[in-house]
Order: sequence, then structure tokens, then C-alpha cells
Amino acid sequence: MEANLTMVYDQIIARNPGEAEFHQAVREVFDTLGPVMARNPQYTEAAVLERICEPERQIIFRVPWQDDQGRVQINRGFRVEFNSALGPYKGGLRFHRSVYLGIIKFLGFEQIFKNSLTGLPIGGGKGGSDFDPHGRSDGEIMRFCQSFMTELARHIGPNTDVPAGDIGVGGREIGYMFGQYRRITNRYDAGVLTGKGLTWGGSLVRTEATGYGLVMFTQRMLQTRGLDFAGRRIAISGSGNVAIYATEKAQEFGGEVITCSDSAGYVVDEAGIDLDLLKQVKEIERGRVSDYAMRRGSSAKFVPGGSVWDVPAEVALPCATQNEVREDDAVTLLKNGVKAVAEGANMPCTPGAIAAFSKAGILYAPGKASNAGGVATSGLEMQQNASRDSWSFEYTEDKLADIMANIHDTCSETAAEYGHAGDYVMGANIAGFIKVADAVIAQGLI
Ligand code: NDP
Repeated sequence: MEANLTMVYDQIIARNPGEAEFHQAVREVFDTLGPVMARNPQYTEAAVLERICEPERQIIFRVPWQDDQGRVQINRGFRVEFNSALGPYKGGLRFHRSVYLGIIKFLGFEQIFKNSLTGLPIGGGKGGSDFDPHGRSDGEIMRFCQSFMTELARHIGPNTDVPAGDIGVGGREIGYMFGQYRRITNRYDAGVLTGKGLTWGGSLVRTEATGYGLVMFTQRMLQTRGLDFAGRRIAISGSGNVAIYATEKAQEFGGEVITCSDSAGYVVDEAGIDLDLLKQVKEIERGRVSDYAMRRGSSAKFVPGGSVWDVPAEVALPCATQNEVREDDAVTLLKNGVKAVAEGANMPCTPGAIAAFSKAGILYAPGKASNAGGVATSGLEMQQNASRDSWSFEYTEDKLADIMANIHDTCSETAAEYGHAGDYVMGANIAGFIKVADAVIAQGLI
């Protein structure tokens, strides 16, 4: 990192103590911005970096609710409205026991650049709670969501801040939150949340969008080296929304997806993941990947506690959570002949893993580019809500494909322009940053 950037980075660490994931996300961006800052002295004069790294607003609130035994439970809710230079704050809500301010800030920070890359008029934000939905009844989930929205409602709106799902927040949770928002405000503001059900303002393809978009991006990236998905072994981690629809699209492109995982372990299925069974277990029964292995028969094996990256594959798509691919995993993947790694999750590769991929010269796509299909389709949902229209699956999927191709090409061209052809991290960070930085300056000191 250049000296001027190090100075700003050190200030950010000092101002935000104990937020390791936020520091990591900022560092990853700063490591690539040297050439941009050198070419654009106005960014330094206007303190653009300092301004982009300081959220416009950080909201932390109490979420009281009652469990099925009648006990009072208290969780903490967050919404970080990071940057609205390009449009209303936009980014998901995460319900997971690990959530604290540092995680929401890392996600919100990445979201600024990701949203900028989509080409849509959306700013960056993120939120969530340390609520753990595992093992909670439907009634408990509903009461939690209602309480969470009771506070959040006063901060959001279709032209202000538009949350969506993330880990632990899917269609069911969005439904409970939308219902409560409507009740509190007495307004049918369909555009206040995305990821809604199809009969009440949702968009076709939104459910599939992050996973589909990831595979579309990866296919285009593979093509730059004359490769594609057909006939290749694909390792995918996670078994939630992103993992399931990445598996679906990778299979459609002829790939052999042989893994899935959750926080208890991974499954390797040499016959290829049976997607109908995985959807039944995860989406309908809300079960575990070990249940999938038990029901699948002899082709599938569940490995408790192991690393899914031990399974040899040519393409690896981490789709679970941050820092799930460590340096030693990267070394194993490379030893086993991996040719491309593309992030479905946010920041799933540690800096050590990224350095190993880069040194080996394989294709590597950072999440802010490769998983942007979800938020892009949320942007399309907002467009449909604003015009009271609903588009067909094919039309919406074509738009998603165009957006992913554009993001890919923008990253690739920007990296080349700055003398780092093939470096998607440089390309994504620089292209995402310049648009936001120019808008921040144009709008004055606010
Ligand atoms: P889901 O809640 O649907 O699924 C998350 C999956 O990851 C589950 O299989 C979960 O297993 C696993 N997982 C979570 N935490 C861990 C952990 N600490 N160790 C191992 N496995 C873990 O979430 P999504 O699929 O929506 O999100 C997955 C990733 O994709 C996240 O990083 C998210 O930020 C990112 N993303 C999501 C988008 C979306 O549209 N949904 C858009 C862009 C990025 P378990 O049940 O055991 O916890």
C-alpha cells in the first residue's frame, strides 16, 4: 500500500477499533487504489477516502421479542447506511449469531463498490442482527422479524434505504418484515424491501439471481482462457440461497457440481449434487446437508467438520460466509488443479488465500463483482415496483446476464487500463471506486 493510503488506513483502524472484518475489507480496497490516487489528486484534496470509509449513518437498536416458552429475549439490530452518493442505500439484512458492527460495516463497505459496478442508481448499506434463527419455530421467527421491523421502519423507505435478504434472511423473513412495515406505516410501499414474494411485488429471478449471476460471471471469465463449465468438476460451499442457485446454473452449463456444505461439515457426491433433493432438504424441510447425504444413498458422503476445499475440483465457488477459504485451503485447491475461483459469498477468501491464487496466476473473481447479480436484480425489482409492472422470467434473466457481462468486462478493461490485465480485484475496486468518488466530489462537502 502506498504511503498516503497507509496514513489514511491507519487513521481508519484507530477510529474503528476491534472491527477486524471491516479493516480487512478496507485494506483489500486500499491495496489496489494507489494508481488511481496518483492519477487523480482531487480525490486526496477532497478527502474522498476518509469520507467513503465513514458511514453516513450507523443505527444500532434493541430488538425485544418473546420465545415459545414465554421468555423475553433481547437481540441487537443494526443498519449501517454507508453511502448514498449514487442512490438510496441498498443492501441485505443478515441474521446470524456472529453479527456485530464490524461485520455489518465490512458488508456495507463492500456493497458501495458492488452496487456501483452494477451500473444501477443504488448506494450502499447493510444491516442485520445477532439473532440466531437455527432451531427457532416459525412463530419465533415472525415475532423477531416484527420486532426488528418495528424499529427499522422509521429509517427505511423506497427512496431512502431498501434492505433485502442475506444469511438467515430469505423469502419468509422478508414477508414478515414487509407485513409489519405496511402495518406500521399504512402504506403499500412495495419498493421498501426486495426479495418479496411474487404475488406481492417480488421479481422473478431475484431468488436465483446471486447464484445464477455468479455462474454467468465465472463462465465469461473462464472463456477468456478458452475454458468453460462443461464437463468440469465444480466445488461449491454452503447450501443456502446462493449455493443452491449457483449449483442450478452450473449444472445447466454442463458442470458437475460435487459438493455442498454447512457449518457442521460438507457433502461430496461423486454422482453430482441432486438438486431436487437438496432443495427439498434445505428450502422446504429447513434441514442440514447431513440429511441430504443420508437420503441420497451411496454416491454421497458427509464429512463432519472437514474443509470442502479438500475435494479436488477445477472450479471453486465459495458461497457460505466470510474467510471460509484460508491460505492452506488455497494451497490444497491449487495442488489439486483448480483453474478458477469466484466468490459467491462476501469476502470468503482470506488475504493469504487471495495472494496464493494471484501468485499461481489462476482466475480469481472477488465477490463485489461476481456476486453482484443479487443486488442487481433487487435493483430490477425496484424498477418494476416503481412502474407497477412485472417482467417475465426470460426478460429479467436476460437483463441479469447483460449486467453480469458488463460487470465482467468493466473489471477486465479497467484492470488492463491500469496495467494489471487479468486482475479482477484491481478492476472491480478501481471501477467501483471511481464512480462513487466522482459522485461524492460532485455533490459537495456533505
Ligand atoms: P443462507 O442463509 O441462505 O445460507 C448460508 C449458507 O452458508 C448456509 O449453508 C450456512 O450453513 C452456511 N454458513 C453460514 N455461516 C457459516 C459458517 N460460519 N461456516 C460454514 N458455513 C456457514 O445465505 P445466502 O446463501 O444468502 O448467503 C451466503 C453468502 O452469500 C453470504 O456471504 C452472503 O453475504 C453472500 N451474498 C448473498 C446474497 C443474496 O442475494 N442472498 C447476495 C450477495 C452475497 P449453516 O446453516 O450451518 O449456518
